[in-house]
Amino acid sequence: MHRTIEDLFTSHVTTEWLRDTRRVFHAFPEVSGQEHETMKRIVGLLDDWGVEVQAPVAETGVVAILRGKRPGKTIGLRADIDALPIQELNEDISYVSKNPGVMHACGHDAHTTILLGVIKLLQALEGDFEGNIKCFFQPDEEDRGGAERMIQEGCLEAPYVDAVLGLHVSSGFPPGKVAFKYGKMYASSDMTKLIVRGTSAHGASPDQGVDALLIAAQILTAAQSIVSRNVSPLDSAVVTFGKIRGGRVRNQIAEEVVMEGIIRTLDPKMRIEVRERLRAICENIAEAMGGRAELQVIESYGSLINDDAITDVVVKNTRELLGEDAVIIRDKAQMGTEDFAYFAKARPSCFFHLGCGFVDRDTPPTHSSCFDINEDCLEIGVKLQAYNVLTLLNSLK
Ligand SMILES: [Zn+2]
Ligand SMILES: [Zn+2]
Repeated sequence: MHRTIEDLFTSHVTTEWLRDTRRVFHAFPEVSGQEHETMKRIVGLLDDWGVEVQAPVAETGVVAILRGKRPGKTIGLRADIDALPIQELNEDISYVSKNPGVMHACGHDAHTTILLGVIKLLQALEGDFEGNIKCFFQPDEEDRGGAERMIQEGCLEAPYVDAVLGLHVSSGFPPGKVAFKYGKMYASSDMTKLIVRGTSAHGASPDQGVDALLIAAQILTAAQSIVSRNVSPLDSAVVTFGKIRGGRVRNQIAEEVVMEGIIRTLDPKMRIEVRERLRAICENIAEAMGGRAELQVIESYGSLINDDAITDVVVKNTRELLGEDAVIIRDKAQMGTEDFAYFAKARPSCFFHLGCGFVDRDTPPTHSSCFDINEDCLEIGVKLQAYNVLTLLNSLK
């Protein structure tokens, strides 16, 4: 199968096409939820190639389907397509962002290009495989999350998708290296907003009021005991308040404080427990001090949990395609979030990191104004994902 993929890559995709395509996406980035031109560009290419397309899905997303001539399973592939509200500072590159204040600083231009490359390659098989391949060009990863909406709109049904694969470029290692994490890979996140209410009074007569600032300070400190005393030292959670605003003038006892933060957890049970502990701390401390506290929790992304069996297949393929040394197995999860979690929750999935670092110089991290990728990762991503799809279609039947 290696040979087939190498041959199809050379005859139907090519390194040059990948590079040029990625540079166009890079030059015209669009922020989350506004990927209108990006969607048109993707649909335009798929139409040219005669690929079955559904669009728009989740407002600015696209689903492409390749149907095999023989019945079988369906494998899903996901690429996120949105960019960030960041001004790009890579002025020396020809493909620098032409959209002021918007930049592909997370490599989603590479993800989009790789998925198009996989379609181009597998389309050349003219349906000579069992089952189907469904490709999800997902909008809005960086903001509200497009994965959940695509799934709600039915992208995993008709044909029913049996397994999903996704990748993210990683600047920490060069092309040719691929990193995996079995099981829990990324955290879930819940956004919190706490309103503490006291009673205002003259600053010289604190006994006549209830100091909301003092209550907030106690809550801020006590909240950290959740991680140190309610979460197992072997598990992970982060409770952060990143914004605090309250009080009016220096000689008044403050009547209101608003704090905003994020709770991150890896374990779904721990997620609920941490939320409840925080609520109890906020409400009870405020009450004990004569005030009131109201904690609002807005659920964001769930934790991303990879399937062992699907991950095994992709790890094995990576070794076959790129050599024994290519695989990095991580033993620690990351406390960041990734909305591929919704695909991984709905179906057995594998999400992995594709090395995109430069060899001869440092690569700035994702979300940096100077982020760029080593484009050698594009070809590797296409071949690996194409190989993964074909082996999974074979092994799952
Ligand atoms: Zn990002
Ligand atoms: Zn990203």
